[in-house]
Amino acid sequence: MTVTVWSTDPRAVKALALLAQSSTWTHGRRKCDALAFAIVPGSAPGTTYLVSELGCTCADANRRAVRCKHQTAYRLWTIQQQATAPAPEQGPAPADDVGLCTDAELDATMLEIKAEHLVGDADRADRAARAAHRARLRRELGMTDEEAA
Ligand SMILES: [Zn+2]
Repeated sequence: MTVTVWSTDPRAVKALALLAQSSTWTHGRRKCDALAFAIVPGSAPGTTYLVSELGCTCADANRRAVRCKHQTAYRLWTIQQQATAPAPEQGPAPADDVGLCTDAELDATMLEIKAEHLVGDADRADRAARAAHRARLRRELGMTDEEAA
């Protein structure tokens, strides 16, 4: 997700001011589909707006159909949260927990299988070459298959 903020855009400048107060926002999730939203204070005292990825309840967003400062601030906040989220804990692969093999074990097994196939192919190629050699010798010596067996 990319949000471009122009310093010449008054809505963007106000969005940054709103973002600075993001610790005062109330966050929640819509019950029916778990859509994340925030309740963001409006500029008039006592006013609040509900902001989500889908839009905002303020007049700017609804009457003028523009991306309001609340939506821009909310998007920036979302990006900020993703950037500062702790990295997933490094440890044994989750596969270990359910008794499956790890990536390293899978790689080793795949190598073993490949090696078996290569040996098998070489064996078959060897047998075919020996059979062809025997057949050529039999032809050269004028032997029939019964005599060769
Ligand atoms: Zn708004």
